[in-house]
Amino acid sequence: MGLRFYNTLTRKVDPFEPLEPGHVRLYTCGPTVYNAAHIGNFRAYVFEDLLRRYLKFKGFRVTQVMNLTDVDDKTIKGAREAGLSLNDFTRQFKDMFFEDVKTLNVEPAEHYPAATDHIPEMIGLLEQLMKKGFAYRSEDGSIYFSIKKFPAYGRLAHLDLSGLKAGARVAQDEYEKENAADFALWKAWDEKDGEVGWEAPWGRGRPGWHIECSAMSMKYLGESFDIHTGGVDNIFPHHEDEIAQSEAATGKPFVRFWLHCAHLIVDGRKMSKSLGNFYTLRDLLGRGYSGREIRYELMATHYRQWLNFTFDSLQAARAALDRLDEFRRRLDLASAGSVAGRMPSWVEVARAGFVAAMDDDLNISGALGALFDMVHAGNKAMDAGETDGAAARAALDAFADMDRVLGLLQSAQGTADAAIQGLVARRQQARAEKNWPEADRLRKELLALGWTVKDTPRGPQLKKA
Ligand SMILES: [Zn+2]
Repeated sequence: MGLRFYNTLTRKVDPFEPLEPGHVRLYTCGPTVYNAAHIGNFRAYVFEDLLRRYLKFKGFRVTQVMNLTDVDDKTIKGAREAGLSLNDFTRQFKDMFFEDVKTLNVEPAEHYPAATDHIPEMIGLLEQLMKKGFAYRSEDGSIYFSIKKFPAYGRLAHLDLSGLKAGARVAQDEYEKENAADFALWKAWDEKDGEVGWEAPWGRGRPGWHIECSAMSMKYLGESFDIHTGGVDNIFPHHEDEIAQSEAATGKPFVRFWLHCAHLIVDGRKMSKSLGNFYTLRDLLGRGYSGREIRYELMATHYRQWLNFTFDSLQAARAALDRLDEFRRRLDLASAGSVAGRMPSWVEVARAGFVAAMDDDLNISGALGALFDMVHAGNKAMDAGETDGAAARAALDAFADMDRVLGLLQSAQGTADAAIQGLVARRQQARAEKNWPEADRLRKELLALGWTVKDTPRGPQLKKA
């Protein structure tokens, strides 16, 4: 069985092939830049990064678009309260977002379109919807999408629309399923909008949130593309509305695969400021956790399961990474100067297990399980002296290859570089020759560079001092 994903649209696991052979077009709903993103937001971005990296690992070229929502109800309110222009207000949170995803070793998307740079595209889409009769102008000059004109409405969220009140309208960007109604594509300017507004053929105003994603995804990925992701809270209304607007305008299927990640909770409870369990990435960094520890924690639970964030599990993430680092250092030392030979069987088994698990709707628990089985089997093989330099090098290469998906090792702080490894090797040599003063001198040299070395039955172990 090949690569397959659980598709919210079909409610089952479907085999995946892109529309264009070899090339996956992926749209990931990005941040609304009105505050520092919290760890629940980053859970979604890390899941999307895992998806992107695994698609690349499978040999696909990936074109990923992540939008920046820099005009909507929340950003306008935030700018007004801060006494800043919309641009000045959102810019600080855009910068913060890019810094944060870098800290988490999230690969950059190919495009980060900002909504305010794509107003003409949105107006164009609206004109099409008006022309085709899916949209209408209300008394106040706003434009609404008429959901009764689009019979497929509710398919993604599996809505029962039998109780729908004809002609009911909702102006806010966010609302509950029970309030399904004609939604705003364009909001007529009012005094709360201040300086924010654009001229359109039907009057001054600003786009609704949902139309932003339809216009920008189709601009960069085409009218039909492969995968659209977000959090489960995006299914309704955001993604439902995106489908309606896009398919009504083009008459073509919008997206084939919809992937949604579940919520993050903290200590078994909904994360909220009032409960005092609300964390941004920066809060956790301030407590001394590293980006990759937080990445591991956010990634290690399957994306469709609730992630229960606790400081205990973050501590466990740290221990798991220590184990991976130590194993890699051991392979580094064992393989020094060797070229890769045949893959030992414990590596082959792990690699096959890793791929089989990830193919199955990104089963990360299975993939990490295969990786730690490799650590266990590899340590055992090295203890027994069954692994020569060539085998260790082959294992190291396979490890690095799997890490193209996990993204845990590249950003490892405190990985010993070649010079350090050279000193360790020279010290080993001195010890073998029973040249104790030289061995001691090299130990001190390593310490001066920030490394302690401990001699164990498994060979020297390096630790950051
Ligand atoms: Zn979106």
